[in-house]
Amino acid sequence: MPAEFDLIRRWFTRSADAGSGIVALGVGDDAALLAPAPGMQLVTSVDTLVEGVHFPADTPAAAVGWKSLAANLSDLAAMGAAPRACLLALTLPRIDERWLDGFAAGFFRAADAYGCVLAGGDTTATPAGPAVITVTVFGELPAGTALLRSGARTGDLVCVSGTPGLAALGLARWQSGNRDLHDAAIDALLYPQPRLALGSALRGIASACIDVSDGLLGDLAHVLAASGVPGAEIDLTALPRAAALAALDDETACDHVLAGGDDYELCFTVAAERWPEVQAAAGGRTPVTVIGRTTAAPGIRCVDRQGGVRVPTRMAWEHFRGH
Ligand code: ADP
Ligand code: MG
Repeated sequence: MPAEFDLIRRWFTRSADAGSGIVALGVGDDAALLAPAPGMQLVTSVDTLVEGVHFPADTPAAAVGWKSLAANLSDLAAMGAAPRACLLALTLPRIDERWLDGFAAGFFRAADAYGCVLAGGDTTATPAGPAVITVTVFGELPAGTALLRSGARTGDLVCVSGTPGLAALGLARWQSGNRDLHDAAIDALLYPQPRLALGSALRGIASACIDVSDGLLGDLAHVLAASGVPGAEIDLTALPRAAALAALDDETACDHVLAGGDDYELCFTVAAERWPEVQAAAGGRTPVTVIGRTTAAPGIRCVDRQGGVRVPTRMAWEHFRGH
């Protein structure tokens, strides 16, 4: 069994990463050195994935590697930042070479896809498990241009990218025993694609932005609270629906779209007259949909085609719920 240093050398040190981008010094010393370009702000975020909590224990190792970085990069996307570097803290019950091969392959596939250099980390053992993976990401953007949660104004359009709800369907399918890695919903669950291009393009256009990690309505509520905007009206008939959701009854499909976690889409607000700029920014590459408006009336109301008001069954996935 390789010792900690062999593990770091074998799986997490790549010569191509040394001195690359803003990483002046990477894996191997006591700490890494980052050199952001003048006039740029460093944007940083950290997230932890716990086996059995954030991903089922039998999740393919490559998907765990991909998702541990992709979920973090989604936070950079929500700020409008470009990824530059990351740190990886791994706490593992044992050294399982096949698992590490898969994990590293998935992790570096995401790192390379989104231009994020692994600059360092920490490796520890926890014999009783579960595996805990903590990734810290660093991104850059021109100073003062970050997309914040706090900029929404009453009357703004509420928009969302892609088709939220697909990952929740993927989780339901996974939990019912489906292991088809080519299934679109399971792929959305295992290999989320952070909306980095859209996030950067929305700088200076969107008034507020958040990534949908815990459920669309709950994350929208965070934007409203941070912005001091009383409420929003969501048009249920305008919600983007992934083709795979068509197989579900309407209520379940709606619940997945409005409250499913793990989508890593962007939910943002924009002044109505700037909608054409959003379309230009998305450039046909990223689907974006207007799903409602922020309102002076308090709370989030969901309205259907007949003008009826539907009370959502739940807002979002919450940790500590019921504890
Ligand atoms: P220290 O004891 O000084 O904290 P470590 O043994 O934790 O040093 O780490 C040695 C070097 O290896 C550091 O540069 C650290 O950033 C890097 N490192 C440790 N674990 C990982 C990992 N899982 N992925 C990438 N780099 C790592
Ligand atoms: Mg250390």
